[in-house]
Amino acid sequence: MVLTDEERKAKKNAYQQSPEYKAKAKEIRDRPENKAKWKAYQQSPEVKAKNKAYRIKQSARIKAKRDSPEEMAKRKEYDSRPEVKARIKARKQSPEYKAKQKEYQSRPEIIAKVKEYQLRPEVKAKVKATRDRPENKAKAKARSQRPEVKAKTKEYSQRPEVKARAKAKRDSPEGQVKAKEDRIKQSARIKAYHSRPDIKAKEKQRKSEPAYQKWLEEFRAEEIQNRFIMLQQYSKNLSNSDIPCCNCCGQNNHLDFLAIDHIAGRRTMDSEPELKKLGYSSKLIGRDLVDWIITNNFPKGFQVLCDNCNFSKGMKKNNNECPMKGKPH
Ligand SMILES: [Zn+2]
Ligand SMILES: [Zn+2]
Repeated sequence: MVLTDEERKAKKNAYQQSPEYKAKAKEIRDRPENKAKWKAYQQSPEVKAKNKAYRIKQSARIKAKRDSPEEMAKRKEYDSRPEVKARIKARKQSPEYKAKQKEYQSRPEIIAKVKEYQLRPEVKAKVKATRDRPENKAKAKARSQRPEVKAKTKEYSQRPEVKARAKAKRDSPEGQVKAKEDRIKQSARIKAYHSRPDIKAKEKQRKSEPAYQKWLEEFRAEEIQNRFIMLQQYSKNLSNSDIPCCNCCGQNNHLDFLAIDHIAGRRTMDSEPELKKLGYSSKLIGRDLVDWIITNNFPKGFQVLCDNCNFSKGMKKNNNECPMKGKPH
């Protein structure tokens, strides 16, 4: 009986699938000399190159298939199924996944990559546009008002490293410029608010009420009182006088002729460690300075002078000294 080519092929195939054939083939393959031969063959440069080319082609094929529109659509459909979504979500919340994610995100090269991406102008613009959408703004605001979020924000902002970072940012040249811009914007806003007719009317009404008048009276009386306490204390300390008087010429006719003098100079005193420790700043003036002096128990560095001695001491040519110092005047 003569077999056709087809039949012969089928027969051969069937034979090669049989357990006996497979076992035999394995036995032959596993003989040490054959194993060594096979290994040598695989190590030859041509075969290695061929294998590599095959692997590259194969991975390109897989990638092309994976990225094809049909496959992508299929994947998208699959990922959007509720049960799959739930599964993905659950996996993402597992401690192992989170730990892995954290490890990955803390790798220096990944941090650098993310940063580079976030700093791209188009990405920045996109993020800002999303953030500025009214619904997102409202959402963010609502979120920031939640007690637990508020507490967390507070805790975060009080960490030493965060505080240091914020300070460095504030003190940087850009930070200073921004602060100045913010101040200007803020004062413009306040000015605009107070010049609104309805607000003006309201203010006027409030100021005409007896309660306000009473408060104002008390406020002014307190100011005069505190100023007196301060002048009296420094006169006692430096001029040995119970009556407030000028520490240079002795003038004591009227409280209104007297002033508190920064002995070393208002701004120079910004760099005095003892005063700095107490929170002194050359920005403290008027009522704020008086309050600060009393609160800090009359620190050294101030004296009482009359307006004449004080003014002439401040003249540039006089080098921070009254021209009549030590002489009767
Ligand atoms: Zn004087
Ligand atoms: Zn004087």
